[in-house]
Amino acid sequence: MPRATVVCVERSLETEVSQAVDAWLRWLPRWQPATHRGRVAPCRRCLGSPVLSAAGLGSDVPHGVQHGLSTRIKAIIDHAVADYTAKNLPMLQGELDQQAARNRARSYRPTEGLDPEYEGMPLDPEPAPGAPFLFTLSGMADEADAEVPALPPLSEAAKAALRQEVGLADEYANMIGREVCALLLGHRLRIQEAVAQYVEPQVAALLDELTRSLDSPFDPSE
Ligand SMILES: [Zn+2]
Repeated sequence: MPRATVVCVERSLETEVSQAVDAWLRWLPRWQPATHRGRVAPCRRCLGSPVLSAAGLGSDVPHGVQHGLSTRIKAIIDHAVADYTAKNLPMLQGELDQQAARNRARSYRPTEGLDPEYEGMPLDPEPAPGAPFLFTLSGMADEADAEVPALPPLSEAAKAALRQEVGLADEYANMIGREVCALLLGHRLRIQEAVAQYVEPQVAALLDELTRSLDSPFDPSE
């Protein structure tokens, strides 16, 4: 890529990362600790995410707080890669277009159009033991998916060309990811301040409550 293009991409990334952090900061005062049972499987987007460590949101921060930021940042990376693919990778773009058309043909798409705090989270709550759900949103989505015909198979040559383009898209995504992490370092301070103001007091209150209930399991005043 010519140097001028790289500089231009960096500038727009800088603005986008700053805006994503702004949006997360506007949302954070509304965050509340989850009252329902937490998810059992770890979140693949947040666990060990280099984006979150660059932002200074470590594993001591509740997952909902992390997820709101990691999803907003992922959207920036995805968008940059989509742009690069549209301009430079015709095979991959063609394949993505076909998949998108197939997706639009599905009658039920519960994972689309969600707020960043919900995007990528499990569709259904964990079922309680002995009480399975009559139907689940993910089950309905799977049924809608099965109704749409599969895409035609690719030739070996087309597969090889596609693999090469996927490799280039991956490389580009890694480059943008590193760039975004470097930019996030500049926002650590305001992220940290917001966590101290809106998250830590709520976590401390929860722990206090837990300690009290463990100290007096049979409180006679109740
Ligand atoms: Zn997550």
